[in-house]
Amino acid sequence: MTSNMKQIIDEADKVLMHTYNRYQLVLDYGKGMYLYDTDGKEYLDFTSGIAVFSLGYDDKDYNDALKHQIDLLLHTSNYFYAKPTLEAAKKLSKASGMDRVFFTNSGTEAIEGAIKLARKYYYKKTGKAGGEIISMDHSFHGRSMGALSITGTKKYRQAFEPLIGGVKFATFNDLNSVKENISDKTCAIIMEPIQGEGGLYPTTDEFIKGVRKLCDELGILLIFDEIQCGMGRTGDMFSYQGYKVKPDILTSAKALGCGVAVGAFAATEAVAAAFEPGDHGTTYGGNPFVCAAVSKVFDLYEDRNILENVKRVGDYLSLKLNEVKNKYDIIVDHRGKGLMQALEFKSPVNRIIAKALEKGLILISAGANVIRFLPPLILEEKHVNDMIEILTECLDELV
Ligand SMILES: *Cc1c(COP(=O)(O)O)cnc(C)c1O
Repeated sequence: MTSNMKQIIDEADKVLMHTYNRYQLVLDYGKGMYLYDTDGKEYLDFTSGIAVFSLGYDDKDYNDALKHQIDLLLHTSNYFYAKPTLEAAKKLSKASGMDRVFFTNSGTEAIEGAIKLARKYYYKKTGKAGGEIISMDHSFHGRSMGALSITGTKKYRQAFEPLIGGVKFATFNDLNSVKENISDKTCAIIMEPIQGEGGLYPTTDEFIKGVRKLCDELGILLIFDEIQCGMGRTGDMFSYQGYKVKPDILTSAKALGCGVAVGAFAATEAVAAAFEPGDHGTTYGGNPFVCAAVSKVFDLYEDRNILENVKRVGDYLSLKLNEVKNKYDIIVDHRGKGLMQALEFKSPVNRIIAKALEKGLILISAGANVIRFLPPLILEEKHVNDMIEILTECLDELV
């Protein structure tokens, strides 16, 4: 590391709150599948800024669309209509099968909106407040007080209690556990079809269909958090489409803007109708700038057959990771779908991740023992081969 990079890190560690153990790296710019640090060293990126940069770095068409909108109009407030916002909403609605969209600035805010909408729907239906929400163990929905209240990892919640009430946690992929938590006050069930932060656990076909059926029978809303597993990551635009199950409310963010801060929650007409003017709002959410990005993202996914690419290269990645798993005793599981896959180890993976970084490969964990693979969706077979070569080198040196 040059003294220049070291100085930036030292200064940043003095002025930024210590909420992250950051990689000892200052990134400067990116191109396609690669990132470059301020010393000019190249890294193959298998994280996409946590499932954000689906189109890779420095895509010219994407950048041009943003530059065009910057020169036109960045922001209007939601008291006005704007063309990019309409375009983005139409494309998200068509891609998701939801009828109405509300744009937010982050995934967490999309979750907040989804919770509020579910509670308002219950209030209108029953004439009473107090709708309960069932969430899943090991789930992750964000860090605000509301989103934290439905996040399944206790250590994230504990110090911040009391959080919002009326939340119960069921065991993921266990339908009986969901049933046991249902009461006459249950207004919504929320789940990630593929849990991301909690360790990358896909739902079973049986579970997700079972939950949908329960919700239909009992008049409970089903919310799918597709913030990480959506936007093509699994080979379908939204992962629930692969299970052939639809939610009543959807949350999206991360790759929705491919690098600009935007999220959304969307709902069926009947559910969205619970909101009236004044019930929810945002200053920046869905402004022309971020929506020009969202709109372009949908166009580029289509132009570049991103979903096809994810299916093909995802299968190849799956094959290769399985070979790695079979070769090393310390790897206990390989799971995931499309370009959202993981290897689970017997022990913590931070040494492997640090070693990979030295060798020019950026990886990320999901819980102590799991390496998560979330590359940009423009990944090609040759990048998979390069990644596997570096990963096996690291494993050979460390075990
Ligand atoms: C990242 C994430 C969130 C929170 O999104 P932010 O944009 O960080 O607020 C919520 N749910 C899931 C599944 C996520 O992966």
